[in-house]
Amino acid sequence: MSVRVVAGRWVFTGAAVLADGAIALDGDAVAAVGPRAELEPRFGPAERLDAVLLPALVNAHTHLELSHLGGRIPGGEGLPAWVHLLVATRAQDPGPGRALEEAVLDLVDLGVAAVGDVSNTLASLEPLGRAGVAGTVFHEVFGFSERRIEAALAQARALREAAPAAAPGLRVATSPHAVYSTHPRVLAELLRAGPASVHLAEDPAEREFCVAGSGPFAAMNRALGSAPLPALGRSAVAVAGPHLGRGSLAVHAVDLDEEDLAVLGQSGATVVLCPRSNLHIGGRLADLPRLLAAGLPLAVGTDSLASAPTLSPLAELAALARAFPQVPPSRLLPLAWNGAAVGAPAVGRLAAGAAPGILAAPLGGVRPADPARWLVETFGAEERRFTWIARHRPAPATSAPRPAPPAGETSPPG
Ligand SMILES: [Zn+2]
Repeated sequence: MSVRVVAGRWVFTGAAVLADGAIALDGDAVAAVGPRAELEPRFGPAERLDAVLLPALVNAHTHLELSHLGGRIPGGEGLPAWVHLLVATRAQDPGPGRALEEAVLDLVDLGVAAVGDVSNTLASLEPLGRAGVAGTVFHEVFGFSERRIEAALAQARALREAAPAAAPGLRVATSPHAVYSTHPRVLAELLRAGPASVHLAEDPAEREFCVAGSGPFAAMNRALGSAPLPALGRSAVAVAGPHLGRGSLAVHAVDLDEEDLAVLGQSGATVVLCPRSNLHIGGRLADLPRLLAAGLPLAVGTDSLASAPTLSPLAELAALARAFPQVPPSRLLPLAWNGAAVGAPAVGRLAAGAAPGILAAPLGGVRPADPARWLVETFGAEERRFTWIARHRPAPATSAPRPAPPAGETSPPG
């Protein structure tokens, strides 16, 4: 094999950081990673870059099909008000047009190799595949009444049948939008079928909806024709929790009490934080130190351009670093390397034999004392652009894809 060796001032492997490290590459695949002094005798002289080298990133929660709504949905009044504005604006201007393609190209410039993209239309499937981005398109359904959710599932099945085959490394998984918007039986079925993503505990109004069947989300559902609503449980986490598993993404987790935290911890679900979206919509963040102390699996996402300024996972980590200065940036970076959470397990760590995607962050002559802090608080905060050293290549499939269920079956495709 012909191996190329690339060295950086620092190399993040996803698990450790090496000063004067190097990566031996066979095409896009990692042949070895280690100190330059060890790799050069084995593989030959390295191409030495004035850069930090790192695994490509994961944006575990976005909605690419809302990319045309950037800057158009004001926040600050909480989630119910924001959802109301989003629905009204999207009804007037449903199609993302070129904005979706541009958003995918931007993701790649921002160092992203895998996504958890939430889509009602599956419009992102083809552009993501073309750009070589891996992960999961969560095909989202909602509808609180029996009639609305059955119609949504039927429409989702039809869309799925008409959709192009997913590119290698991408999968589609039908997912419920949220506890306050999805019929409880279908919410449970979809989460149990997994993998699935659900918006959870994003706003205190979800708790009010679950406890008493009242508040702005109850009003929203009544306006859509739902019968008076029963109390569902003590919180959205209590309602969804028993159906969450290791393949679940619980997105936001801002409004958690101690019991919710325990339920999430027992579920095995990955909590996805979207701090800049949360700040825009409700002005409040998930309690990161508490989530870290509880040992929950974590990932980071941007949410859509309708509530976040860009699609940069590192910029989200910079927002967390500003809000929680007690958390060292070296503990933040793994949130942007959780490829397993979106079904792309090779993304986010440099392991021999894998092609996770490798980025260079040019240092421009600076010598930071703490390279993790520099990556997050300078490179990430300023949204500087990466150079790709190697691209992500999904491992060849080892088993046949799961067939879609026949039409008419209650359980959704995927
Ligand atoms: Zn979202």
